[in-house]
Amino acid sequence: MVHKTMTQRTVETLVFDNTYARLPQAFYARLNPTPFSTPPHLVHANPAAAELIELDPEQFARPEFATLFGGGALSPGMEPLAMLYSGHQFGVYVPQLGDGRAILLGEARNEHGERWDLHLKGGGMTPFSRDGDGRAVLRSTIREYLCCAAMQGLSIPTTQALCLVGSDDKVYREQIETGAMVVRMAPSHVRFGSFEIFYYRKQHDHLKTLADYVIQQHFPHLCEGSDKYAGFFSEVVERTAALIAQWQAVGWAHGVMNTDNMSILGLTLDYGPYGFMDDYDAGFICNHSDHNGRYAFNQQPYIGLWNLSCLAQALLPLAEKDALKAGLDTYQPRFEREYLQRMRAKLGFAEEKPEDDELIRDFLGLLQGSHADYTIVFRELSTFSSSSDGAMNDRLREHFLNPDRFDAWVVRYRDRLRIEHSHDGERCDRMNRVNPKYVLRNYLAQTAIEKAQRKDFSEIGRLFTLLQNPFTDQPGMEDYALPPPNWGKHLSVSCSS
Ligand code: AMP
Ligand code: MG
Repeated sequence: MVHKTMTQRTVETLVFDNTYARLPQAFYARLNPTPFSTPPHLVHANPAAAELIELDPEQFARPEFATLFGGGALSPGMEPLAMLYSGHQFGVYVPQLGDGRAILLGEARNEHGERWDLHLKGGGMTPFSRDGDGRAVLRSTIREYLCCAAMQGLSIPTTQALCLVGSDDKVYREQIETGAMVVRMAPSHVRFGSFEIFYYRKQHDHLKTLADYVIQQHFPHLCEGSDKYAGFFSEVVERTAALIAQWQAVGWAHGVMNTDNMSILGLTLDYGPYGFMDDYDAGFICNHSDHNGRYAFNQQPYIGLWNLSCLAQALLPLAEKDALKAGLDTYQPRFEREYLQRMRAKLGFAEEKPEDDELIRDFLGLLQGSHADYTIVFRELSTFSSSSDGAMNDRLREHFLNPDRFDAWVVRYRDRLRIEHSHDGERCDRMNRVNPKYVLRNYLAQTAIEKAQRKDFSEIGRLFTLLQNPFTDQPGMEDYALPPPNWGKHLSVSCSS
């Protein structure tokens, strides 16, 4: 729940604690961030995220703000650490991962007693950096920062991004780029892989300590239950299923759904080579390095289940196998219910009918066959005229390569709308509240990145503001709702960030 607050803190009066640092030392490595060698500068900051920790947005302009969130200072109560975890990467178990370039600075507390992890990504090497340099580049931090805002605008559970701090430090990737840091916020950054590591190391006492901690902090209503670990698992199943259904409905692919990138709270976590689809393609692969399409768009629901089965296995020392299995079995129906509900709303149905599933599937088939733009067609569908005068729907019809097939679908759609006495005007309003007009298309992010690399941050601000209200027509922003120009189609995004 988000509380409105009157408290306005400064950089100096933020209140920090770090309950994770109170867990056994085996859970993390304590260390301070490594600041850039050149002065940090604020690229952008998020007033809504600041409000969650009662930070006055006027603070953004102070050099102390960029210093603190560029890893150049610490506040009292912060106990910075890199979290340890492992995980299944592309289906293969990697025995040790951990925050290789992120540092949990501490938990900011607000006067309602809420705690927000402040996690500094790009804050320098840690004992878990392996071959990495501990840095993040401006390009990838902009992508993370903007997509957090986009997800927030779409009401899809996500980590939040508080601010983006840039530098002139050189960072070596495929090309020379500049280093940047993004501060993300979440009630917890614990991942499925945080549990897996203690299971595979046979450190069941640590496994229990972690589960007890997570339940006490984030699922307190389960504390008194007889089978709290199985209950906890069931809630993770529930949240994960709901989250992935929301990704599917909005046409978004994560790109690297390794178990170390799966949030125990069901948040979208670790933005890398993600993508919003332009043309609808069920097999859309947004991650250039994903050669076999393991994390293709239409695989995400199965991968969610696969990842949850890894978590279930890690919890075997704590809960009955049958109870975990029962939790896992709720995934598919939960996912389908959530997905169907969201897709029904996207088609403008107020009621549930047995034929909806097929109507939805056939519509997606039409989009696929026509390479039609997912976001644009759903948005335009709200203008559909249910009267029999077909001419009203000509514009919509133009998106489809085979108009006869579209017409045949329209007959069924119109009949379906009539069954529930759907009113065109009312339905249009409803549909415009669930079919976004603006999404963070890859080419839009790319434009902001290229400008920022020339030290012009204006496009980041423009997109940030736009994406906070993706369902509302915004004057002067019509171009941002258009399909990508030719150069911006099928941009290649890889893990290298
Ligand atoms: P990701 O693909 O971003 O989820 O990262 C997978 C693992 O690699 C995590 O343990 C990251 O912390 C680590 N990692 C990614 N990039 C770097 C980097 N530049 N330096 C150090 N560790 C990294
Ligand atoms: Mg990760």
